[in-house]
Amino acid sequence: MSTQAYPELMEPLDLGFTRLKNRIVMGSMHTGLEDRFWQRRKMGEYFAERARGGTALMITGGYSPNRRGWLYPYASAMLRKSDAWSHRTVTRAVHDAGGKICLQLLHAGRYAYHPFSASSSAVKSPINPFKPKAMSTREVKKTVKDFARAAKLAKEAGYDGVEIMGSEGYLINQFTAPRVNQRTDEYGGSPENRRRFPVEVVRAVRDAVGDDFILIYRQSMIDLVPDGATRQEVLDLAREIEQAGANIINTGIGWHEARVPTIVTSVPRAAFAEVTRQVREVVNIPVMASNRINTPEVAEDILERGQGDLISMARPLLADAHFAEKARTARADEINTCIACNQACLDHTFQLKRASCLVNPQACHETELVYLRTNQPRSLAVVGAGPAGLACATVAAERGHAVTLFEAGDEIGGQFNMAKRIPGKEEFSETLRYYRKQLDKHGVRVELNRHVEPGELEQAGYDDVVIATGVTPRIPQLDGVDRPNVVSYSDVLQGRVEVGDSVAVVGAGGIGFDVCEFLTRHASEPRPEPVPHWMKEWGVDFQTDTPGGLVDPDVDPSPRQVWLLQRKTTRLGKDLNKTTGWVHRRELRNKGVEMVPGVQYERIDDQGLHITVDGEPRVLPVNHVVVCAGQESLRELYDDHATTEEQPAYHLIGGAERALELDAKRAIKQGSELAASL
Ligand code: FAD
Ligand code: NAP
Ligand code: SF4
Repeated sequence: MSTQAYPELMEPLDLGFTRLKNRIVMGSMHTGLEDRFWQRRKMGEYFAERARGGTALMITGGYSPNRRGWLYPYASAMLRKSDAWSHRTVTRAVHDAGGKICLQLLHAGRYAYHPFSASSSAVKSPINPFKPKAMSTREVKKTVKDFARAAKLAKEAGYDGVEIMGSEGYLINQFTAPRVNQRTDEYGGSPENRRRFPVEVVRAVRDAVGDDFILIYRQSMIDLVPDGATRQEVLDLAREIEQAGANIINTGIGWHEARVPTIVTSVPRAAFAEVTRQVREVVNIPVMASNRINTPEVAEDILERGQGDLISMARPLLADAHFAEKARTARADEINTCIACNQACLDHTFQLKRASCLVNPQACHETELVYLRTNQPRSLAVVGAGPAGLACATVAAERGHAVTLFEAGDEIGGQFNMAKRIPGKEEFSETLRYYRKQLDKHGVRVELNRHVEPGELEQAGYDDVVIATGVTPRIPQLDGVDRPNVVSYSDVLQGRVEVGDSVAVVGAGGIGFDVCEFLTRHASEPRPEPVPHWMKEWGVDFQTDTPGGLVDPDVDPSPRQVWLLQRKTTRLGKDLNKTTGWVHRRELRNKGVEMVPGVQYERIDDQGLHITVDGEPRVLPVNHVVVCAGQESLRELYDDHATTEEQPAYHLIGGAERALELDAKRAIKQGSELAASL
């Protein structure tokens, strides 16, 4: 066991009255376990697992200091002694596991999803139907006191500190930026006046909790909205927050209403570390870097470069509760890396569902999905090494079963081998690296280039046969569909065909959008420096003093003309995931992709693709038609198996079970749950 791995990341941090055992902090995330007192045991176990996994400090999801600040009616709040009392289950579980935990105090302001919301001014947010009322000066001062009282209650609950949420566009940001703050009293107007509210909150909280309590202020380092704070205002606020009594400044990036992505997978790793460094230069307290930091290498690099003193990771610790311990013991290749898909975490939160993780379905379900070591080992054949088969094979082997994994292709991964080729989705290859390591570690016998035929496994002596053979692309009935210039997405993404400079993409689901991303980037050119190139295309500037850090975007032109088509008359991409769909739509619009709904496909011939839209015939003069019209299950191994008492038990998971609405979240969850039950 080496303790030399990631020396900066593993260096303890002494705050005087307390010591963090390393620089890894689990940033705040709303998981859905916060709101109800009867969920405290699950919440405690969720954090305790991360504490056992070596995380130095964790921060809960946001708790409002008063009812107006609720995110939605009856959402999490820290209002009275009984609230504090119920949290002791959480703090005790974490302390028993050797960790530390802070409670986040978050007043939603105009992001509150209820009619009683209040803000600095009565300015409605573009992402919320409720118009807030403007707080009177008295109400502002009362809210300062509410923060202090909630912090005191957090201390009584056994928390090691609090984090004051001053970023992402919540109430405090609504005071600091003229975008919302149009007040004429002492809390509005000049930058000094706009800073008064957060500074008073920090000072009041410090007075209420004393010196031996961690006080983190999460500051918006760059607002990414018009009329946001300027760079100078950000630096001045950081100085005053330090003077007011904060121990640590954490990084927040962008308001929720920003039209610049801040955490999706296409944002380069550590993209925002530079703005944290700028704040670190003007204060003397530790500063925490955040956003798209998902490996110990990236974290170590940030610390080495002096861009931060601590590293906040939220989703990466959802994906792997033992991230810190694996890094400490030089087992980074065993980390289940967050691929920044948002599919089971943030997307769930927006649907008011409990969060989990696409690559780790145990997340937030620590007491429900448990991988116990078996005392009755079975012999399993798993057919198909896509996400479903990989999850099933590795969890079953980890539990002690003897597993053989058959894969027709020459590598594991199934459709993830195509997903990882989409520009901006390179992270998907980390999941395959993780599974490769798990297969090896738990002794799964892997047979590649092995296409299993119907009936083949029935007499082979297995106790269980798991069919995880996935899907095959659907080919629609269309005149001319068999022409050589009509190809499937798998032909394009696996490099079997080179498409021309004008292309029609038939089908606008997740894969149709991804294929357009692929077609609108230059494949052969070396990839430019990821962070500067990404900033240029999204119009972000860390040096400028323009409000919000925004400048005009400068998008590279697409190498080909692309049409994206669907039969439905709804807006294209409407059914893409909530927190990421808008990014894909904007990227394709910026690249000049013509998105056409309400298409009736007529035929394909030498002229191109003939369609009818709104009763009008059109010919798209394309070199290639790429079909992304969904998939059908590949399940003949299951449908044709014999059912006699002596035969092995057959199981069906992933796309093989159901192609409709299939995604990797379902495939991995089904594979893991089946393996946990055997
Ligand atoms: P598959 O991944 O299809 O794997 C099945 C495996 O079985 C294959 O490797 C196949 O070779 C093997 N096999 C088949 N028959 C046999 C046989 N007879 N013998 C041996 N082996 C056999 N999902 C998301 O959730 N988020 C995304 O962002 C996302 N992006 C995507 C982007 C692209 C471009 C594509 C193509 C897919 C994307 N998906 C995404 C979908 C996701 O990859 C699938 O939902 C997932 O791979 C399904 O997993 P599976 O294991 O059921 O099937
Ligand atoms: P999909 O989402 O079902 O989309 C299929 C598309 O094909 C639809 O636009 C559909 O629209 C069209 N279509 C269906 N039948 C057709 C036919 N007979 N002729 C012409 N068009 C037809 O499937 P997908 O895009 O293949 O994606 C598969 C799964 O992978 C999805 O369920 C998705 O969850 C997952 N995925 C997710 C992401 C992500 O970023 N989260 C990315 C990629 C894939 P019309 O019927 O209106 O034409
Ligand atoms: Fe990361 Fe996706 Fe898991 Fe969320 S669901 S933690 S983004 S891998």
